[in-house]
Amino acid sequence: MKLGFIGLGVMGAPMAAHLVAAGHDVSGFDVHTAAGEKLQAAGGRAAADVADAVARAEVVITMLPNHPQVEAVALGEGGVLAAAAPGTLLIDMSTIRPETSIEVANLARDKEIRVLDAPVSGGQAGAEQAALSIMVGGSEEDFDTAKPLFEALGKTIVHVGPHGAGQVVKAANQLVVGGIYGLVAEAIVLLEASGVDAATGLDVLAGGLAGSRILELKRKSMVDRQFAPGFRIDLHHKDMGIALAAARQADVALPLTGLVAQLVAAGRAMGYGSLDHSALLKVVEQLSGR
Ligand code: NAD
Repeated sequence: MKLGFIGLGVMGAPMAAHLVAAGHDVSGFDVHTAAGEKLQAAGGRAAADVADAVARAEVVITMLPNHPQVEAVALGEGGVLAAAAPGTLLIDMSTIRPETSIEVANLARDKEIRVLDAPVSGGQAGAEQAALSIMVGGSEEDFDTAKPLFEALGKTIVHVGPHGAGQVVKAANQLVVGGIYGLVAEAIVLLEASGVDAATGLDVLAGGLAGSRILELKRKSMVDRQFAPGFRIDLHHKDMGIALAAARQADVALPLTGLVAQLVAAGRAMGYGSLDHSALLKVVEQLSGR
């Protein structure tokens, strides 16, 4: 397939490379030109701008930080809706608020451009190992078209409902992930303050009912205070905002999510926004004066 790929960052770069490896003709664009050069080295093509990446594409994938970038790339001058041919499928894999996904889909319909929201979970490692979980909102027919592409990127691939539903599932994912990081951080602080070796303690937790993918993959780096991203606190702050806004929209109370959102906001305010979200440990430590 001829693909356009916009946003070649931590996640987009390895995802685009997997699509090249699966035999697709990938034209990629990122505002950081070095990212396009890396794609070219991996066998893709570095496009000059969004319109150039989209011009020949049957499917366009976007993997951008947040909704303003998705709006600019999808709806802006020289963007996907302006430059793509009728019949093109636009798959936004960024994590953004559900209402933007719905708005883009509605505006695209007039141009006969089909849209899916397909955010992912699994982090940088999941992107690099083509082991992402992909939660997809949109029509069944468009999901079926996109499925072979998703299979080159992930392992758990589920159509979860209409436009915006993928983003709601991702918001639910992010509140669970934030909560687990917060609690693992509290466990480490308690263990260390009590004179118990945290690495040993967490090894036991990982094998019992408290076990989780986060404990499995991140307990060593957390105990060793290795906080290179990964997934930045700034991005998780964005996602907690999406989760709380979705809760308001659905008229439900999510008290623990509110608390975790404040921990993440504190991490940003303390200057840790560009560290990995596991750096919530630094916030929890500082709350105890450690
Ligand atoms: P990133 O900042 O590393 O990558 C985003 C890329 O988009 C950057 O390279 C940036 O230069 C590019 N970009 C920004 N505006 C652009 C524009 N107008 N045109 C072209 N390129 C543009 O972010 P990331 O970590 O790859 O995350 C991307 C999305 O995936 C976010 O929504 C994030 O929440 C989500 N996500 C990230 C992870 C993770 O572990 N990093 C995991 C799951 C989901």
